[in-house]
Order: sequence, then structure tokens, then C-alpha cells
Amino acid sequence: MSGPGVRTVAVVGGGPAGAFCALELARLLPDVTVDLYDREDRGPGAGIVLADEVARQVRAVHPEALRLPESAYATWDETITSIDGERIPSGAFGMSGISRHVFHEHVRTLAARRPNVRLIRRTVTATPEPADLVVLADGAGSVLRQQRAEQFGTSVTAGATRYLWLSTPTVLEPCFLIKEFGPGPLVVHAYPHAAGESTFIVEADPGTLTALGLLDRPAAEAERELATIFRAELGGAPLTARTAGWQAFRTVVNRRWSAGRTVLAGDAAHTVHFSTGSGTALAIDDALCLARSVAAHDDPLDAVAEYDSVRRPIAERMQAEAAESTAWFEQFCRGERLHGHQTVFALRSRRAANTFSRLRERDPEFVARTVARLAGHPTDAEPVDVPLTVGRVRLGHRLVALERRDGRCVLRGADGTQAVGLVVDRTPDGLLPGIDFLAVRARPEGGRVTRSAPAARIRSQSGLPIALLVDEELPRDEANTLIAAARTDLVALP
Ligand SMILES: Cc1cc2nc3c(=O)[nH]c(=O)nc-3n(C[C@H](O)[C@H](O)[C@H](O)COP(=O)(O)OP(=O)(O)OC[C@H]3O[C@@H](n4cnc5c(N)ncnc54)[C@H](O)[C@@H]3O)c2cc1C
Repeated sequence: MSGPGVRTVAVVGGGPAGAFCALELARLLPDVTVDLYDREDRGPGAGIVLADEVARQVRAVHPEALRLPESAYATWDETITSIDGERIPSGAFGMSGISRHVFHEHVRTLAARRPNVRLIRRTVTATPEPADLVVLADGAGSVLRQQRAEQFGTSVTAGATRYLWLSTPTVLEPCFLIKEFGPGPLVVHAYPHAAGESTFIVEADPGTLTALGLLDRPAAEAERELATIFRAELGGAPLTARTAGWQAFRTVVNRRWSAGRTVLAGDAAHTVHFSTGSGTALAIDDALCLARSVAAHDDPLDAVAEYDSVRRPIAERMQAEAAESTAWFEQFCRGERLHGHQTVFALRSRRAANTFSRLRERDPEFVARTVARLAGHPTDAEPVDVPLTVGRVRLGHRLVALERRDGRCVLRGADGTQAVGLVVDRTPDGLLPGIDFLAVRARPEGGRVTRSAPAARIRSQSGLPIALLVDEELPRDEANTLIAAARTDLVALP
């Protein structure tokens, strides 16, 4: 039971954060009255992906939250990445697609069935009064948070790419589609989210969209044009935009998650780029933690302080990881050269946990094919042991010692041959006579090189082999990950 401090809670926003907060409060505190406000319109978005792991955790607490007819889901274990027509399968390890609208409406309705929860369909424009605790769960664009931005220490940063969240009335295989168009690629993340419907998110650099005449077109024309560009992949099905035109992803950060008895949850508190597919899980976990803290403390301010101390570090960690994923996509959308399997490996390993050894454990066939492409033939060797010729030097492995002097490096072969490298921090202009490779510095943190380090871009733009100069020895697994993903060709020993 809660203490006398909380008798009434106003929750603004009936997405996963708000609805799960109401559900959990109702479960733990039947004496507390919860007003759950949600605006009447449907809101943006087509389908979302939930990992099986997340679904299991949700079912353990609120099994009814995922009890929907089978036709409301699509499930898969493999994703196809199509790079300019080449189809490369890789494991997705247990995923479900579901309509965002159907899922949100379902959990909202469940919450409203609890005797102590009242669902109020209204757009809230000012903090509802009076309530002992106010939860702002009104999403990334939270109007009520913006009204108190200074108190929350809010910053909102727009990403460099633009995306359009579309749906199509057909069942697509889960896939990444990468289509090169000169100025840069169009990257599509598509997956089914119901028996007869799929999500189709198109992401690209604004320069690419402008060059294709897509950026400033009315949504209906952009839909038609995209349906034409992807006619083969869509089987001729149409596309419908589920956002009001092209959007920049907004990363929301709040230095404080509470102001007195008003507290932030879900996307109102923090956003993580959709390429990580984890925004819904974070919103649900916030909600469960907040409700449990309220139930555990007499004073709502203690509850809010506990919630903040538990959830904020987790969200910050996820945001740091998502920032790397975002930066990788942004760099990629600016027009990195495509390397088939290695690009797919880079896509898969952009998250810290997905190292070479982990991916090999989970999807040995995909990793074996990636290394075979690197070597030019099937091999049991790891990427660091795949031979490479740089200039006239034939190397049997890729962890190398370099002699460094005056901004240059020399790589010596066992047979007395040598190759000359230039140390750079950006892509050099023009030709470089006498230079066989480029050496790029990277600063590993905790044995990891950030996935958006400039080496990959310089490699892609210059077409020359890259040696990564690191100031600490890299774990072999990390070196394998970087080479398999075409982020570098060699790793220089410090
Ligand atoms: C393109 C894209 C793809 C994504 N894909 C995935 C994915 O695959 N997997 C995943 O886990 N996450 C995904 N996400 C993120 C996910 O949608 C969010 O993280 C999640 O919905 C956050 O839940 P929330 O309850 O905090 O906010 P929201 O889901 O935004 O809910 C906010 C609610 O508040 C209501 N509201 C807003 N303002 C008011 C107001 N003034 N008055 C009353 N009600 C109001 C809205 O109607 C809405 O119901 C994606 C996001 C984007 C942009």
C-alpha cells in the first residue's frame, strides 16, 4: 500500500509509458485513483518491432497486454538485407511486428477496464490539477514538458537524416533494402506488422532526397514516387505515409526527470533512435519502475527520487548506444561505398553487444559467408588472419607493426618489401603518388572503437586500405569486428 502521500495520479499520454503506468498502479494500489488522458486522434506510426525477450518480460507482469489475435502479429527469425539487388540473409533472433496503433489502443483499453482507472479522451494543454502525482508520458514532443523545459533541463537534438514512416497493405519479408542513387542510398527498414500489412520506413540523407526530388514534395506524391522506386520489392503495392512528411529523428534528453510532483516517463523523458528498436521496452520499464516506487514509498517525492536514480542511468546508457547507431546510419546515408556482406556485418555490429564472436555464435553461416567474401574463398580463419596485400607487401595477418615517422608509416613485409602509409584524419584531396595505405587514429574506450569512427568513411571515400592506429591494444574480438565490417583493413599494434 502507498502511504497517505498519493491518492490521485494524473497520467498524461496513453502510449506504452502512460498505459503501463496506469496498469501497474492499478495492480499494486487499488485505492489510488488514476486519470489517464489521451488525445483522440490516432497519432503517427505504422508498425513497431518487439524482441521476443521484451515480449517475455511484459508477459511475466501483464500477460493480457500481449493477448491479441494471432493475425495482429508477424514473427520472424531472419532478416534479408538487399544491397543493390544482392540478397544477404542474417539472423534477427526472435522478433515480432505489431501495429503501434493496435498495441497502444489495446493496453490503454486494458488500463481503462481497471475500476480505479479513468480514461479521459482529451488533448491536455496544461498540467491537470489537482493530483498528488502527475506523470507526463505524452511522447517525444511532450507539450507539457516543453512548458517547463528549464526545470527539466530539456534538450532536443534533430538527427541529420530524414525518415518517412509508411505502411503498405501487403506482407513483406523482414528486410533492410539499400538502394544506391549516386548522391547516397535510400535505406529502407521493412517488416510485416499484421496479417495483411507491413511497415516501410525510408531513411536517407537530405542531400539524397533533394537530388531525387523527394524532400519537398507533398506526401501523396512522395508516396507514389517511392512506390515506383520500390515497385519490385513491394510487388506493386501502394505506400501510405504515417507521419506528416519527412521527419528528422529527435533525440530528447532531460537532465532532471521530475519537477516537484511532476515526473517524466517514456519518450517524454528520453528517446532512442528507432534503429535500436528499444523505445517501447524503455517506456514500459520506466512505467513499471515508477509505479513500483510509488507503491513502495509514503512520500511521492521519495518515490520520484528512487525512480530517477534507477531509470535515468539506464536510459542514458541506452541513449549513448543509440547515438552510435544513429551516427553510423547518418554516415552510411552520406554515401559510404557498399561492400555486400561486410556492409551487412557493419549494420549488425553497430550495437556494442554484437561483436564478431557473438554474431558468429548466433549466426555462424552469415559470419562464415562474410569472412569468405573477405578472403575470396571459404575459410576457417578469423578476419585478423585473412591475408592481404598492401602495395607490394603480402601480409599473412592484419595485426601489424608500423614504423612511424614524420606523419608517415612504413609497413615491412617478411621478404623485405615495404609499403608506405600516410597518417590522416580526413579523406585526402586528390591522388597520393607513392602512398599505399592511409593510417587513421582511433581512441578506443574500454577496448572498443566507436562505430562511427572516421576510418570507415575515409576508407570508403579514398578506396585505399586503412590501418587503424590505436593507443592501446585492442581485444582480438574487437579487431575481428572492425575488419569484418570493413571499418578498417589493418589494426596497427600500439
Ligand atoms: C519511425 C519510428 C519507428 C519506431 N520503431 C520502434 C520499434 O520498432 N520498436 C520500439 O520498441 N520502438 C520503436 N519506436 C519508438 C516507440 O514508438 C516509442 O519509444 C514509444 O512509443 C514510446 O512510448 P511513450 O508512451 O513514451 O510515447 P508515445 O508512444 O509517443 O505515446 C504518447 C501518447 O501521448 C498522447 N499524447 C501526446 N500529447 C498529448 C496531449 N497533449 N494530451 C493527451 N495525450 C497526448 C499520444 O496520443 C500518445 O498516445 C519507433 C519510433 C519511431 C519514430
